[in-house]
Amino acid sequence: MTEFDAIAQYFRWPTPQAALGPGDDAALLQVPPEQNLAISTDMLVAGRHFFADADPHAIGHKALAVNLSDLAAMGAQPVGFTLALALPELQPEWLSAFAQGMRALAQSHGCELIGGDTTAGPLTIGITVLGHVPAGLALRRDRAQVGDDIYVSGSLGDARLALMLRLGQSTACLPEIEQDWVNARMDRPTPQVPLGLALRGIAHAAMDVSDGLAGDLLHILRASAVGASVHMAQLPLSRALRRLPAASAQAMAANGGDDYELLFTAPVPMRRTVAEIAAQLGIDITPIGTIEARPGLRLLDTHGVDHSAKLHGFDHFRGHS
Ligand code: ADP
Ligand code: MG
Repeated sequence: MTEFDAIAQYFRWPTPQAALGPGDDAALLQVPPEQNLAISTDMLVAGRHFFADADPHAIGHKALAVNLSDLAAMGAQPVGFTLALALPELQPEWLSAFAQGMRALAQSHGCELIGGDTTAGPLTIGITVLGHVPAGLALRRDRAQVGDDIYVSGSLGDARLALMLRLGQSTACLPEIEQDWVNARMDRPTPQVPLGLALRGIAHAAMDVSDGLAGDLLHILRASAVGASVHMAQLPLSRALRRLPAASAQAMAANGGDDYELLFTAPVPMRRTVAEIAAQLGIDITPIGTIEARPGLRLLDTHGVDHSAKLHGFDHFRGHS
């Protein structure tokens, strides 16, 4: 199989929305009037972001999911993406499963594969995703305001627990169904695109949690020149994490990466609206703290003691990519 056969067979999907799909020197997209084009790139490298021998269907899903998560965090509607692939070999079974995993997720979001590049090399997946957001309505990191509530969707720390179990670093004993569930949280994350769209005009600031809540929240705090107090006991924990001692579960929730939930701030008068959005989308949205004028992040226990400095991994994950 040649490179061109592989592209034609696995990566040529219908592109009804694009003005011109793949096959030419560049794809063409029409940006609707009064909309901004939101653009984000994320690269996944075998051995660093996923295990090289992982299920290719899951790799395909996750590579696109982490990119869609960035669009969700901007409040953008996914439109299309490009796929840059370095492959050690052209292996039909692997390519077919990889493409199917990616395509299923792409279709469910109306996100078309409009082009890419394919080369031989160590397994690396680079995706650039494109979306639309009405001008002025994007959810940015630098718009948090003093007094805002801080919210997070879903639950935190599940992917970290799955990773630790896989690496033999946790002795947590989970029932099989919960074991499968945390594995799925790590291998097949769900980008919170509908939530990002619903938060347009509601949230002040937003981002997705990819490197861990504490480090990621610091990005919002710094960009917005504010501080925050977060209540550790309010961090949303799945049934699986609630089986662990509270302190380790909370540490995982505060530091664990790969969650792909949305972290956002919204003014107090929006509380009812945020609850309605959660009910409408059938997801959990949990208030975890407050934006304050005093700089820095305080991770408070139920006695009001700040654990931010002591929390293992906190510094390590700050600025981690
Ligand atoms: P060029 O040499 O002009 O860069 P390529 O031979 O790299 O062209 O690609 C030919 C066409 O196939 C282009 O339209 C490109 O967008 C598309 N393409 C290449 N690799 C991929 C891929 N992995 N997924 C989707 N489309 C691809
Ligand atoms: Mg090329």
